[in-house]
Amino acid sequence: MTVTAGVVAVQGDVSEHADAIRAAALAHDETAEVREIRQSGIVPDCDLLLLPGGESTTISRLLHREGIAQEIEAHVDDGKPVLATCAGLIVLSADANDERVDSLGLLDVSVERNAFGRQKDSFEAPLDVTGLDDPFHAVFIRAPLIEDVGDAEVLAEWDGRPVAVRQGPVVGTSFHPELTTDHRLHGLAFFETVHG
Ligand code: GLN
Repeated sequence: MTVTAGVVAVQGDVSEHADAIRAAALAHDETAEVREIRQSGIVPDCDLLLLPGGESTTISRLLHREGIAQEIEAHVDDGKPVLATCAGLIVLSADANDERVDSLGLLDVSVERNAFGRQKDSFEAPLDVTGLDDPFHAVFIRAPLIEDVGDAEVLAEWDGRPVAVRQGPVVGTSFHPELTTDHRLHGLAFFETVHG
């Protein structure tokens, strides 16, 4: 089967996410056709969405300005999957604790931007992730801290803090799963979950 994968291409690791979703699809005997999203009208054609990192202030502003934000909300209402990484997680959160981020509230978590970054700008760590058999090598870059988790399920923690969460069809990570050649997290978000 061919799935249409939309990558929000306002900022961030667009080509890395495109490569990761193509590889994850192949590993599940599927094919992903990737579309880049910079304006409204594309999200409704997509089976799944990727929301890369970048600066959450800029991304949220553009999503609202271009009318993409409500299309993402409708996509999730339809039960279709989304993987949001780093700034993408901040944009989908219920509360970004920053008035410059108009977050969409699709993941019931509150976050603190750049909180890990205060200790160290970037770092890498092996994580145990619910649903993956072996540890996942995670790359954190000025990563948000997930402070409160409401209805979301915690999939992974680092140092006792949640760093990957799922709520229905939406998976959010503080780290960047597109920056390694391990595409299992993309597979988990899109091809191994029973969404309902
Ligand atoms: N620091 C960015 C923000 O707060 C997120 C960093 C990233 O996506 N790598 O928006």
